[in-house]
Amino acid sequence: MVGFVQDVTEARQAEEQTRNFAYYDKATHLPNRTSLEQFLSDLFAPPNGVNGQVGVLTIHLTRFREINFTLSHGEGDQLLRAVGARIIETLEGNGFVSCVSNSQFAVAIKGADGGRATETAQKIFAALQTPFLIAGINYGLGAHVGIALAPTHGNDAATILRKSDVALFQAKQSGRACVIYDPARDPYNPQRLALIGEFRKSLLAGELRLYCQPKVDIRSGNIVGAEALVRWEHPSYGLISPDQFVPLIEKTELIHALTQFMLEASIQQCIAWRREGVFLPIAINLSPRNLVEPTLVHNLQHTLSSFGAEPEWLGLEITESSLFVDPQLTIKELNSLSKLGFCLYIDDFGTGYSSLSYLLSLPVNVIKIDHSFTMRMIEDKKAATIVRSTIDLAHNLGLQVVAEGAANKEIWDSLKLLGCDEAQGYYISRALPAQEFLPWMQRSGFGVARTLRSGQSIH
Ligand code: C2E
Ligand code: CA
Ligand code: CA
Repeated sequence: MVGFVQDVTEARQAEEQTRNFAYYDKATHLPNRTSLEQFLSDLFAPPNGVNGQVGVLTIHLTRFREINFTLSHGEGDQLLRAVGARIIETLEGNGFVSCVSNSQFAVAIKGADGGRATETAQKIFAALQTPFLIAGINYGLGAHVGIALAPTHGNDAATILRKSDVALFQAKQSGRACVIYDPARDPYNPQRLALIGEFRKSLLAGELRLYCQPKVDIRSGNIVGAEALVRWEHPSYGLISPDQFVPLIEKTELIHALTQFMLEASIQQCIAWRREGVFLPIAINLSPRNLVEPTLVHNLQHTLSSFGAEPEWLGLEITESSLFVDPQLTIKELNSLSKLGFCLYIDDFGTGYSSLSYLLSLPVNVIKIDHSFTMRMIEDKKAATIVRSTIDLAHNLGLQVVAEGAANKEIWDSLKLLGCDEAQGYYISRALPAQEFLPWMQRSGFGVARTLRSGQSIH
């Protein structure tokens, strides 16, 4: 009898141990990835499904590998256990904490939306900043966090975990502490791959369209130019706005084909307007990849001359962030472009980098205030301050200012009071199919800066 009881106890212990290995992390004794998957599968399982939202944060400890090299095996585990304990403490019982690999933890929080998940990430960063005392030495740790949200990003365990991992990858790559999953930046997103494949064909199939949005001089009320904006007329999805595909295309070499298409279409449009006696410059958007292309200047010149066009007919809109991909090359290219006579715009001003020193080293002509500030300037005092300060800054540096997002009369009037030079926005007009631009102009009530060949104003 005694022997039998012992046998059963040993078997139970062995079973328990196997279970522990299967579901718990050896070093931290926290649930492992399998347990987390199980936890999420139970949450997502019918009939309950996901009752509300779930946020999954994947946390990668920075510096852990280096620190671990200086510690014994046991001390490394001790540090991981201390990290696990801090994370649990931070969550105050609201979350399932697991250790999914050597220096990686994951937390699932029921009811968490993007805001709450980000707040939790901030708390975790703060908790990790207090040094950990291991073997008499204080170690400070940092972390990157990737966040995926159910049901927005999926409602099964495997998808949410994969997307949280991808967000973590995006955080590490961009050097940001915390990133919420963005399908547009997911290199493994099948929809993204399909769209890129289709875009390749769209170029040949002639599905891209040039749209133009007018820019108006606020003092005179004259139309002084247009911005070239792309639209994709997809045979099954209809008109696709650039926000849905340009960010994807920009990550690939295909952006050169898009820029070339817009360049040629814009030059042709300019020529067509000139034939009608309307001498308006048109500004195209350049992506970061365009600016680090060593052949950019030559290509622009070559394309212009093949149409018999001049650099003064074109503006080039460049975002702040693209200036920093390869600053030396970019400054060189922009200087050449400026000398050739292209008008250079800083696009989305205020949304990229905090340092303004580039304004001193670059031959920029115009600053464009991002619509996120302009559109909020009536109800949000801080946004209004940013708009006002940007106008003053630009003028003090001898630059012109265009405000995007002049969406209504109130905004237009405020911009006028603040001395903003030009406005672009729905109050004036949305982006129009290029061929509708002149008919719109004639009935719009706005004047045109350059007169018709006949010498008459256009309205
Ligand atoms: P962006 O260069 O900042 O262009 C301005 C965007 O703001 C346009 O959106 C325009 O329609 C919109 N906008 C202007 N005024 C208003 C307003 O009053 N209210 C609102 N709600 N929106 C206004 P769109 O055409 O959807 O373009 C979005 C972005 O896509 C552009 O932002 C640009 O970054 C990119 N994009 C568009 N066309 C091209 C292109 O040919 N090449 C490149 N590289 N990027 C492009
Ligand atoms: Ca632009
Ligand atoms: Ca802009």
